[in-house]
Amino acid sequence: MNNTNNYDMNEYIGKVRELVLSMQKPLKAHIKSYGCQLNFCDGDKLKRLASEMGFELCEDELQSDLIVFNTCAVRENAEDRAFGNIGFAKHIKEKNPNTVIALCGCMAQQEHIAEKIKKSYPFVDIVFGTSAQSHFPELLYNKLVFGRNLCDITEYNDGINEEINPLRQGFPKASVPIMYGCNNFCTYCVVPYVRGRERSRNYENILSEVKQLIKDGYKEIMLLGQNVNSYDGDITFPELLRRINDIDGDFVVRFMSSHPKDASKDLIDTVIDCEKMAKQIHLPVQSGSNAVLERMNRRYTVEKYLEIIDYARSRVPDFSFSSDILLGFPDESREDFEATLALMERVKYDNLYTFIYSKRERTKAALMPDCVTEKEKSERMGELLALQRKITTESYKRFMGKTLRVLADSESKTAENWLLGKSYEGIIVEFPGDKSLLGQFVNVKINNTKNWAVEGVVVE
Ligand code: SAH
Ligand code: SF4
Repeated sequence: MNNTNNYDMNEYIGKVRELVLSMQKPLKAHIKSYGCQLNFCDGDKLKRLASEMGFELCEDELQSDLIVFNTCAVRENAEDRAFGNIGFAKHIKEKNPNTVIALCGCMAQQEHIAEKIKKSYPFVDIVFGTSAQSHFPELLYNKLVFGRNLCDITEYNDGINEEINPLRQGFPKASVPIMYGCNNFCTYCVVPYVRGRERSRNYENILSEVKQLIKDGYKEIMLLGQNVNSYDGDITFPELLRRINDIDGDFVVRFMSSHPKDASKDLIDTVIDCEKMAKQIHLPVQSGSNAVLERMNRRYTVEKYLEIIDYARSRVPDFSFSSDILLGFPDESREDFEATLALMERVKYDNLYTFIYSKRERTKAALMPDCVTEKEKSERMGELLALQRKITTESYKRFMGKTLRVLADSESKTAENWLLGKSYEGIIVEFPGDKSLLGQFVNVKINNTKNWAVEGVVVE
């Protein structure tokens, strides 16, 4: 599929490949992604494009002829980090002026950033937005042949490129994006501006991709979307999950992020009843205060949110939930904050991802008055993290003596001959084991719990 009517991505891949392979030495490409898992998937697609264009992929940017920064714009610190790395790339360019530097992803999609790059970082050769990914070969060709610095942040808005098969790095775990974009316009969030409107992939394409991954030996499928459960590709999201569950093979299916407004009983039932589904839902609540939720434009109340939690728990009393909390939203009062703490106590999340509000250009919240000081925000963060540690310490005790099914995925960095994996409940499990178990499902009987993981021994 081409992104515009008369643009042929493959033609440009071929043209660049010819150029790259005609060089005296092999050319290397370094692709660095920031931010969420969806952006890392885009990074894997860029890796595929680079490799099809004849580049060798390289971890070391100093050795690279092409450096691509695939950026994130959700919070200011992600942008700062990217700018820091781009600044460093200037030195690389000074040493090797032929190095091509490209900036893409969510940050690049924003006009004010593209302008800033043009003005203050003139050594960046190519800038392209999330929507112009398939134009990367064309931009690179024009740079290599005509020496033109180019910027393409057009919002093409014409569907999904099914043609680029991501060059996956994380075997036996595979991420599969199923929908892109967001229609919700939460007042603090830049995503709808940089990722465009919601588009869902055709379910047949998703099913055949998952079938192929299972054939290739993958054991964990992570379905991704900015609002994964708002999926609408001719069948509903729960129906998609059921059809994936019906695929032959031994594998586990996870998904993120789910929006509470679209979390139905059907979704909960599907997760509980389908044996290949992880027994866990990441359901970002953001705040426990209805007043804040309304100002955030989240489209649910605490009561509605709790209905979903209570329904799941009525079927499985210790069903595992995790969440994102956005702390310090403009004018969040002490009472609002305490309502968040109360909600955490009530739900008892097994994992919590916490963020301090970061002002984003173009969003409505950027114009809201805020009388909460940075000091107050960081004190609240300390309080919130202490409570979450207490909650996980307590609630992980429920796994004592139980046997959890775990996909062993990495070696422990702190203890020799220990492995790490994730249980179906999304809990990190540590256990003594030989490297030969990596990539396999093992049953681990839990004999110790901490506030961020549980430990145990492998049993039959
Ligand atoms: N679509 C998902 C979340 C995607 S963004 C959802 O609605 O739940 C991932 C997380 O980043 C959000 O859940 C939110 O907690 C955080 N986030 C988004 N915008 C932010 C901002 N301006 N400042 C700080 N954190 C933010
Ligand atoms: Fe951002 Fe809200 Fe969309 Fe999530 S639902 S991506 S927080 S606008």
